[in-house]
Amino acid sequence: NFRSKQELPTTDYRLPTTLNMADLNELYQQVILDHNKKPRNFKTLDVPSITQEGHSPLCGDHITLQLEFEGDAIKDVGFQGSGCAISKASSSMMTAAVKGKSKAEVEVMADEFVKMVRGELDPETEENHLGRLKIFAGVKEFPARVKCAALSWRTVQAAISESHEAVSTE
Ligand code: ZN
Repeated sequence: NFRSKQELPTTDYRLPTTLNMADLNELYQQVILDHNKKPRNFKTLDVPSITQEGHSPLCGDHITLQLEFEGDAIKDVGFQGSGCAISKASSSMMTAAVKGKSKAEVEVMADEFVKMVRGELDPETEENHLGRLKIFAGVKEFPARVKCAALSWRTVQAAISESHEAVSTE
């Protein structure tokens, strides 16, 4: 019932093997709230390898993402910014997901995440590396929110490609 689900741990999003849409939506709400209350890696880095800006004009979301590379790996990551709850939670989860990963691994995850929120990849039936990030799958039902969820991933894509172009979702 509703009460028992409230007791799900808020920092460990292990997904039950049988997860219906209602469960996923409830987990999604919890994760959004948790990451807004306690965003991960919400900091500036002392020696960033790159600083990348991204914004979503439609909603007003803005992210300043910093990455520190060690060889091909992302050694540390930090973000600052302001925006809606979805963009902030997505940014927080993105930073936690990419830390320690190689650039190639992050490129794959970013591509999969953006496809998922656009409804172009079904994380339940198609192979992917999204893990707990698939709680954002329901965003595809809300077109106005797709850019909010995708912003941080578009920004990390640009940072890795070192295009140095500010990301705008418009
Ligand atoms: Zn937004």
